[in-house]
Amino acid sequence: MNAIATETSFPTTRENIAGIPIRDIAKKFGTPTYVYDANVIAQKVNDLKQFDVIRFAQKACSNIGILNRLRQHGVVVDAVSAGEIQRAFAAGYTAHGTPHQVVYTADIFDQAALDLIVKNRLHVNVGSPSMIDQLGEVLPGHDITLRINPGFGHGHSRKTNTGGSGSKHGIWHEQVDECLIRADRYGLTVTGLHMHIGSGTDLEHLAHVCGAMEKTARSVGRTITTISAGGGLPVPYRVGQSYVDIAQYYSLWDATRQRLQNEFGHAVSLEIEPGRYLVAESGYLVAEIRAIKQMGENTYYLVDAGFNDLARPILYGAYHPISIASRDGRALTSTHPVVIGGPLCESGDIFTQDEGGYVSSRELPVAQIGDYLILEVAGAYGFVMASNYNSKFRAPEVLIENGKMLEIRRRETFADLIAAESLGN
Ligand SMILES: *Cc1c(COP(=O)(O)O)cnc(C)c1O
Repeated sequence: MNAIATETSFPTTRENIAGIPIRDIAKKFGTPTYVYDANVIAQKVNDLKQFDVIRFAQKACSNIGILNRLRQHGVVVDAVSAGEIQRAFAAGYTAHGTPHQVVYTADIFDQAALDLIVKNRLHVNVGSPSMIDQLGEVLPGHDITLRINPGFGHGHSRKTNTGGSGSKHGIWHEQVDECLIRADRYGLTVTGLHMHIGSGTDLEHLAHVCGAMEKTARSVGRTITTISAGGGLPVPYRVGQSYVDIAQYYSLWDATRQRLQNEFGHAVSLEIEPGRYLVAESGYLVAEIRAIKQMGENTYYLVDAGFNDLARPILYGAYHPISIASRDGRALTSTHPVVIGGPLCESGDIFTQDEGGYVSSRELPVAQIGDYLILEVAGAYGFVMASNYNSKFRAPEVLIENGKMLEIRRRETFADLIAAESLGN
């Protein structure tokens, strides 16, 4: 009810991405190819400029070319692994600075991550009580943030719910005092609190999250200088879905922050930590239709991208808008219901499926072999979840910026595929 009703429509034909003909992109880079529109990312950053700190959850899209652009827009990053810490450095972020340019957020330390954290004295957002001891032993006297599980959650599927007793994430809200005692043993100071619950578009739910944050912050006390609202800002993937009203979202969090500032007598910085919101709508996966066949009552378009390229449909039954671009510029007029499948030797390799794996169809233009099929709103949890299943080479990533096509990752080769393997002789 508080959601912004969007007029978002998703046309099923498309000629260009960021002003460049899809044909030109496909001819230059082949298919499948991920394409990102740099302008969209810049707009999304601008939407959130009221927050003191925008921290990008890079797991949504961690290409260093994208991270570099976000850095130039003043966005800092979150890292959930040793690899993501190193990506942040490769993109030009440094270990120091205010706000922390790189924060490690996880429910465990693996040895590689802990080594990098110690070497670079990185700030950690601690998601399990055990991590306090493990960090305290190697970095006594450090500042830390606690990720709190307030005892309730919100998420669009069981697999993406990030709070409540059924979630593995964060420190249980009733164990905060115990964690402060643990932190004291090592001289660790809790300077930040974090809750990544997400609220969808439900601002009433958000008010509960803000309330839980305020209560926890009061119980920790005056050492708190930062609160983080986490991520979870939605983007519409289909007609009828909407954005959250960011002005209202901000004002709820800002009021929480103000009350804490008054109570503590010092500034409290308000962070937001989006992944999806900043990148989802910038991204497209361009594929080519390679077979069209009739199976009983179903028409199938089989394309050269599969769940090795975009896993969200098979993982979550996620819906992506789909459009078609003709190879030769002919007009696409009539439509019919089609099922879209990929090339993998696995019957679940279907882009048009609902949660639970039920195959569904989509009303799309009548197409020919060689036409392009574009999976849209694919910039978040797209390429980053790609795999080499079936020994497929991972797709290239192309950033379109100021009318130029920049290859920010090349297509993999067979040499890449076996680079870490040996014959075992
Ligand atoms: C995944 C994640 C985010 C980003 O979530 P989105 O839904 O993509 O906005 C933010 N913070 C943490 C700790 C996360 O794990």
